[in-house]
Amino acid sequence: MTNPGTIIACRECDCLQREVLPPPRGTAQCVRCGAGLFRNKPESLDHTLAFLIAAAILFIVANSFPLLALENQGVRNATTLFGASEALWRMQEPALAALVFLTTLVFPALEIGSSIYMLASLRLGRLPPALPQLFRLVDSIKPWSMISVFILGTLVSLVKLRSIATVVPGLALYALGAMILMVTASEAAFETRALWSRVAALKP
Ligand SMILES: [Zn+2]
Repeated sequence: MTNPGTIIACRECDCLQREVLPPPRGTAQCVRCGAGLFRNKPESLDHTLAFLIAAAILFIVANSFPLLALENQGVRNATTLFGASEALWRMQEPALAALVFLTTLVFPALEIGSSIYMLASLRLGRLPPALPQLFRLVDSIKPWSMISVFILGTLVSLVKLRSIATVVPGLALYALGAMILMVTASEAAFETRALWSRVAALKP
């Protein structure tokens, strides 16, 4: 995966040096300042792709089942992830509805979908068109994908609502929790350098 003639620059001190592949799970360090240059994660892209596919399946499950249900005096109200933004829209809160819709549905779907498209194409030996633009898009929407913040908010209101109604957590809530774990695991498995060296290997 490494070309011994490749020269790389340290991101901390700009020192130019010849690239040396460390042992599996090891980190290549800068010869001058000792900063980490890159990690050698075996099968980094395949592991990332596997975690992302699991996250995508969980995201579909999370959008197909109720997030939570409220029971009060025999009346049961259940809502889905999409239903949460829909309810805000009906409550005359268009800005909040749009924010919840974008950060819990559109951005996570774009982030996971684009990443799977990039990695699956590379896995099949094809260079996806506009790969650098897609990579930048995923990088820029990542901070706006806020499912974990949404889950935290839901859990807080769930505890607070306990005094006035019976709150039943839905399947979607568990699926979202597992999805956050899968997305975090995919980020931990991903190594940017592995992606670009696969791209370099595929370039004609
Ligand atoms: Zn350095």
